[in-house]
Amino acid sequence: MIQDETSLSPSGFRTDARHAMRMALQAAQAAADRGEVPVGAVVLGPDGTVLSVASNRVEATHDASAHAELLAMQEAASRLGSPRLSGCTVVVTLEPCPMCAAAMVHFRIARVVFGAYDPKGGGVEHGPRLFERPGCLHRPDVIGGVRETEASRQLRIFFQKLRQRQTERLTDVSHGVQLAERNARS
Ligand SMILES: [Zn+2]
Repeated sequence: MIQDETSLSPSGFRTDARHAMRMALQAAQAAADRGEVPVGAVVLGPDGTVLSVASNRVEATHDASAHAELLAMQEAASRLGSPRLSGCTVVVTLEPCPMCAAAMVHFRIARVVFGAYDPKGGGVEHGPRLFERPGCLHRPDVIGGVRETEASRQLRIFFQKLRQRQTERLTDVSHGVQLAERNARS
């Protein structure tokens, strides 16, 4: 597990990954504005070219598998006209879940750079640790914690607002119930 982005390779990749992470964070913010869990992803080609940018579309498409990095990989593959993304990097704001990590194996992703760690839902540095499992057919390099503070903050704010809205709704409901009970009694 690499926590510090200063340990990225000195081949100029650091700038690319940081820049791509900024793009991914912007995509994630756009998702939050649409009421989606804010996760954004960018796929970079072997030469650092941006092949795709995507964010969560679970709610919009009624598709529980419409995770940012999965959509970004599908788009990049379609753009390259190949089911394999050899040499490509996925930059994503949150540690990939086991489903997306498995897809990264199938897409033959060379490198995964992620922002926030996800102890509950992650499948790379947590949970099944998919790439470390014996028999894993392809093991992408993993760099976690890039722009971690920004990425975690974005998620934290989103869930805080969500909880606040839920509490407000519950309060409204309980007020309604109280009113109805009072009316029933009178
Ligand atoms: Zn996922």
